[in-house]
Order: sequence, then structure tokens, then C-alpha cells
Amino acid sequence: MQLMFLGPPGAGKGTQAQNACVKYDIAHISTGDMLRAEIKKGTELGSKAKKLIEAGKLVPDDIIIGMVESRLKQDDCRNGFLLDGFPRTLEQAKALDGIVSLDKCINIVVPNKHLVARICDRRVCTECNGTFALKLLESDQCELCGGSLIQRADDTEETVLSRISVYETQTKPLVDYYRKKGIVADIDGTGSIESVTKDIDRVLDKI
Ligand code: AMP
Repeated sequence: MQLMFLGPPGAGKGTQAQNACVKYDIAHISTGDMLRAEIKKGTELGSKAKKLIEAGKLVPDDIIIGMVESRLKQDDCRNGFLLDGFPRTLEQAKALDGIVSLDKCINIVVPNKHLVARICDRRVCTECNGTFALKLLESDQCELCGGSLIQRADDTEETVLSRISVYETQTKPLVDYYRKKGIVADIDGTGSIESVTKDIDRVLDKI
């Protein structure tokens, strides 16, 4: 199963991707998580990415494409993979076409008015990258692995507005790009996590 999840920041791609990857036993490839790992390691790429991420801008296509291309060659992708946060530009999508063929593009639709509140309420685990809504948390530790929960540096109101505008101009056109290929499934992302998961599973069970 070769999938990608598309949707604005705060649509729930990461949470839903984690569920789908466990259920279908496929590799979760989140370019955001990969970049944050580079930042944590203090690499040159990490320090370049940090500035762009915190400004709500995209990391250059050539860097991201090279990163994903080598990730897709790893053994855990043999049974399938789910791309979360990639591609984000037309150039990335065209490069991906030269590497693999996607079975499905899950397009999680959430109106802009919900996004800022959702993102500012988001907490992520520093160990397993699990994503949680602060308002639903019962403890200050990750319920998946016990790791510490933090607010991402780019989950501030100011940065979110820039990320939403980058999504509108650079990433949203990919919905049409993949629709023309006949592989888009639109999913209403405004419901509960469980109801969105059910809607996604209904589509993926048919592949
Ligand atoms: P995410 O965790 O997917 O929300 O990504 C966080 C940030 O990482 C984005 O706002 C971008 O700055 C950067 N990033 C992640 N994926 C990509 C990508 N495919 N292309 C360019 N920048 C990316």
C-alpha cells in the first residue's frame, strides 16, 4: 500500500497517519519528523531547516526530495509506506512520480477557521512524535510511550498563519494534481479522531 496524506497544518494528518501505519503495517514517513530529528541531532541540515520551520516557510525542494528518495529505499518501506507532509509542492509531486506510484491520496478537509485553535492546542511527544490535543490530555506525559510532551516551536499563532498561507498557495494545488490521476479520497476531518479514522479505514480497506 503506497499512500500519501494531504491536508492543511492541523488537519490531523499526523494522528491519522500513525493509526493507519499501525493498522496496515506500513512505514510512516513524516518529512516534518525527519527534519525535527535533524534539528535534534544538530546537523547542518537541521540548523538550516530550523530557521525555515520556525518562520513557517518550506525547506527547499531539492533537500526534501533527496531525503525522501533515500528514506523510500529503506527496508521497512517494502511492505508499503504512508507519506505525511510530502509532497508539499508541485515540484516535489513531480519528482515523486519518478520514484514511486501512489495508490491513494487521502485529502483531509478541515476549514481554516478550525486550524489555528487546533494547532495552538497541540502537544507532541519528544520521544515517539505522538500528537495530542492539550484539552483532552489527562497527564503531562505521552500516553503511548511515557515521553515528555512539548509544544512545537512552529505551533504558535503567528507561525501557523504563515503555514496556512503556504499551504493555500503551494500545497493545495496538489489536490487537483492527484484528482486528475483519479486517486484522491476526500475525508471530512472535522469529526472526532475515531470517526475520521473510520472514514479513512473504509477507503483504505478497499485497496
Ligand atoms: P509538519 O510536521 O509536516 O507540519 O512540517 C513542519 C515544517 O517542516 C513545515 O512547516 C516545513 O517548514 C517543513 N517541511 C516538512 N515537510 C516539508 C516538505 N515536504 N517540503 C518543505 N518543507 C517541509
